[in-house]
Amino acid sequence: MLKQLMNKSNALIILYIFCATPLYAWNLGKEGTFQFEKINDNIYVMHGPLSEPSPSNNGFMNNPGIIVSHNGLIVIDPGSAYQVGQEVIKEIEKISDKPILAVFNTHIHGDHWLANQAIKEKYPQAKIYGHPAMIKQANGEQGIIWVDMMNRLTEGKTKGTQVVAPKFSVVQGTMIEVDGQHFRIHAMIPAHTNTDIMIEHVQSQTLFLGDNSFYQRMGRFDNSASMLGNIKALEYATQLKMSVYVPGHGRSGKADTAIKPFLDYLLRVQAVVQAGFDDDLQDFEIKDKVIGDFSDYTSWHGFDTNFGKHINSMYLEIEKTAW
Ligand SMILES: [Zn+2]
Repeated sequence: MLKQLMNKSNALIILYIFCATPLYAWNLGKEGTFQFEKINDNIYVMHGPLSEPSPSNNGFMNNPGIIVSHNGLIVIDPGSAYQVGQEVIKEIEKISDKPILAVFNTHIHGDHWLANQAIKEKYPQAKIYGHPAMIKQANGEQGIIWVDMMNRLTEGKTKGTQVVAPKFSVVQGTMIEVDGQHFRIHAMIPAHTNTDIMIEHVQSQTLFLGDNSFYQRMGRFDNSASMLGNIKALEYATQLKMSVYVPGHGRSGKADTAIKPFLDYLLRVQAVVQAGFDDDLQDFEIKDKVIGDFSDYTSWHGFDTNFGKHINSMYLEIEKTAW
């Protein structure tokens, strides 16, 4: 009797563990569990961790997206490494076992596209699209820099990842049809980088913004970026009046969450830097003077490390336009 009871309770415990663990999730320990979520008709996004690449997130930190079509799938930004791509494919297969027909890469930063290798290995026929400047940089020095950086930051978790750059160029206004799905490319550059594309899925009115927008996370602006260009790109994206927007990092949603908070932030940085510049203040003086006015953003991941850099980058841009 006791034995029978023990067996029963063991079975209940196993059943409980089985039910409590999300079946459709990639478990990254303290980083959380990750799975694709439906955000629009036939559109799914796996919202990645807001953290920086590290051994605990295996380098995974972006928002891979999928469009489910009749005969196959289209993927946006599959992730940051070969190994991450393999995990992303496993999660994709829980949504649909159709083959991947095409991939779009939003920009040169490796956390978005180094997983192309895993897609190409499993689906050699998949066509990969990107901006011509992104293709050139990925095949050049930037590709190598990103492979090395990702491997270093994850302490070897992305070892063996190789550059698989897009082969097919898309620019502002390009229309692409894949298996009856229509995509329109919006390339307002320079913005987050000088390689960005925003991808509109026409049928569902979804816009994949790449890193032109973030939600509850700050990112850095590299040497090719333009903060003023980023403002223009987000004003343009807002005017497209899409039903759903997918930022490069942070939750997808309507324009009032996926665009407006970051756009307002950039506009406020522009305003305080312009005022400080007109008053002959240096960038660090502006930072100290205004940081208290940005309390809405201090909870965003990376605010502390990025705010001073953002003031500095904006200062340099405003200084350039003043001459
Ligand atoms: Zn980026």
